This record gives sequence, C-alpha cells and structure tokens, in this order.
Amino acid sequence: MSERTIRPSGGNPYPLGLRLAGRRVVVVGGGAVATRRVPALLDAGADVLLVAPELTPALRAHADAGRLHWEPRRFVPADLDGAWLVQVAVDDPAAAAAVSAAAAERRIFCVRADDRAAATAWTPAVTRHGPVTVAVLGGGDPRRAMTVRDAVRDLLGARQGPLLTSPVLEEGPPVDTAGRVALVGAGPGDPELITVKGWRLLTEADVVVADRLVPGLLLDELRSDVELVDASKIPYGPSRAQEEINRILVDRARAGKFVVRLKGGDPYVFGRGGEELLACAEAGVPVTVVPGVTSAVAVPAVAGVPVTHRAVAHEFTVVSGHVAPDSPASLVRWEALAGLRGTLVVLMGLKNLPAISATLVAHGRPADTPVAVVQEGTTSGQRTLRSTLGAVAADVVEAGIHPPAIVVIGDVVGALDV
Ligand code: SAH
Repeated sequence: MSERTIRPSGGNPYPLGLRLAGRRVVVVGGGAVATRRVPALLDAGADVLLVAPELTPALRAHADAGRLHWEPRRFVPADLDGAWLVQVAVDDPAAAAAVSAAAAERRIFCVRADDRAAATAWTPAVTRHGPVTVAVLGGGDPRRAMTVRDAVRDLLGARQGPLLTSPVLEEGPPVDTAGRVALVGAGPGDPELITVKGWRLLTEADVVVADRLVPGLLLDELRSDVELVDASKIPYGPSRAQEEINRILVDRARAGKFVVRLKGGDPYVFGRGGEELLACAEAGVPVTVVPGVTSAVAVPAVAGVPVTHRAVAHEFTVVSGHVAPDSPASLVRWEALAGLRGTLVVLMGLKNLPAISATLVAHGRPADTPVAVVQEGTTSGQRTLRSTLGAVAADVVEAGIHPPAIVVIGDVVGALDV
C-alpha cells in the first residue's frame, strides 16, 4: 500500500456550510430520523423531496402544508436527478445501500443514518445563536459531538460568556452604524423567563432602557460599557414622563446606537409598548418587538393556578385595575365582567380591590368565588394569598400584600389542589 492510496473512509472530515436555499435535497424515509432531519433542511430553504411510502404525522403536516414534495412510494434512482444532497433515513440496510450507490454514481453527497462508515457526508450536532451556527463533528461518534455541542451551547448561552459580549455575535456587519430600537419583554420576574431572542438582543445592546419591574439580575449582567437608563415608573410614585422615554429611545437610535427597551412581562400588556413603537416609527427609527412571558398568565401559573382548565374555565380575561370602577376614566365594563363565568386576571388591582370586588359581587359574581392574590410572582419574594371574592379586599390588607401583585378570580383557583 503506497502512502498515496486513497482511503475513502479515512481522513478528517472537511467542514462546509451548505447553502441549500432553492436547491433540491432528497430525503429517503419517512420515520423518526427523517422527522428530525427535515426541519433544518426546510429552515435552510432547501427544496425537499421526501421519498417514503408512509410518513410520521409531523412529516405529513409538512407535506400537507406544501413545505416539501412527497413521493409516497419507495426510492428509485431517478429521484436523485437534480439533487445536491441526499439524506438516507431508512432502517433497511439494502435499501439504504441502493440509495448510496445511486448517489455515488451521480457524485451527490449522501448522509446515512444507518451506517456512518458508508456515508459520504456526516451531519454535525448544531447549536444556533442568532446569525452564528456552531456545528460539531465527533469523529464518527454522534454522542461525543452532542456533548461538545452542549458545552459550546452552554458557553454561548451563559450569562457572562465572554463570546456573547464580543462583536462577533452581533447581527449585521460591525461597521453598520444605523441605530435601531427593540422593545423586549423581560418576562415576569425570574431572569430565566426572558426569551432566548430577548436575551440575545440584550447582550447586543449599546443602550438599555429598563423599567422597575424588569428583573434586576438581567441588568447585573450587562457589559460595563452599556448605557443603562432607569425608566422607573413606580405606580403612584415618581415617574419619568413617557415622552421623555420616547425621546431617549429616538435620540440614542439616531446616534447610531442599538437600544433595547426592556419591559416587564410582555411589552404590549399594559406596558405602553405601543406608544413607544409609534414614537420610533414616527421618527423613522427602525423598531422591532420581542414578545415576553406576561405576568398575567405566568404568575398565576407559578402559584398553582392555571388560567384555563378543562371543564372549569374556557376563557380568561385580563383587565387593568388601575382605574377605579366608578371613575369616568374607566374603559372597563365591570358589570359585564361580573356576568362572566371564566377566569378574571386583574393587574395593578390592589389599590382598587375593595371597589373592584364589591362591584363584581354587586353585579352577580358570587361572593364565594375563589380568589388568589400573588405578590412578586416567579421571584424569591413570591407570596400567595387564597381568599374569596367577598373577603379578599380585607384579607389583602391584613396579610400586608403589596404591589406588584396579580389577582386571579374564578374556579380555576383551587382546580389543581390535590
Ligand atoms: N407588561 C407587564 C405588565 C405591566 S403592568 C406584563 O406583561 O406582565 C404591571 C402589573 O403587572 C403589576 O402591577 C402587577 O399587577 C403585574 N405584575 C407584573 N409582574 C408581576 C409579578 N412578578 N408578580 C405579580 N404581579 C406582577
């Protein structure tokens, strides 16, 4: 054997990022392996031809939605005509070998789930972080690849990961000086309840404008060069005018900064996010919104209250209690809400709770309707009070419950008691 002998199964794999948009990729097989492979191919924009007599329900859904072409039969070599890549996802070794052979004849790379040694291409374990894709090959051992991938993912996802604070992960060319604003929902309190996208944008921000209800831990972890603007709007306390916040967003973006406006929960649930979006849009500043986990649903959940439950509540209504029911400024028809059977979630309702509960009872909601009041949900300060609609106003005072708190009214309170 000379040193120049070509060893098809040897040698190090040569990594490539295949740009598959609009290019034909054939997947042979319609089972569990194909089900796992197809989404990434579709995400890459590939023109997927799926050849298999039967499909899993998930693959069937892709076919029905027209996201791929399905040939409901066994593979024939002509299926590979025009293909750039083929993925073999069948158990039967003879059938897989037949696809391999047809691919080799046509010089098409062939990934084989059944036999990595026979494959001409391997799929790596992947983790994606915005524009960055990390692909790991484990030298033929998929479990090793996944272990390394998980370690890299943890590093990239780590709150203080040095890589995340580097411009290499930023979207767009680093020289891009066009400013923009993202309205990001920070979630209800637990810093882990921000979305993956929200967290990524936060780590990319030049300026962060944060509300009081934003989890402090998220802000602790910002880079030291990030400008942090405290837009505290404490209910009934000192507040910076909304116009001032809008002005800061627009000014910083016009100065070429990437501004993240971080808001508790979801930006559009009593968060004035819409006003900020309009202000940016009117100023010609590009603005996007990243939804958040709203406290209206999450806080009851962590206190053991599902906002809907089979055979108990088929609706939930989220309402602000900020304005007293009898105020001319109120936009809420409390007497109509009193007639609903379902779950009522009241935000910002502590101060007006005596009037709110009395109004609901006066208009027909039974006084023995179960109520839960949850203070500082999803944080270490979480407290839950159980009461009834008739008694809750007094019980809240007696227990010393303070904002932020959510009041959940309805039979779902107690639905999960065992
Ligand atoms: N945009 C936010 C709500 C802003 S209004 C969201 O989607 O969650 C502020 C009110 O939300 C508070 O007065 C309180 O009623 C409720 N709230 C927010 N976070 C809370 C928490 N962690 N625990 C209890 N209530 C909370």
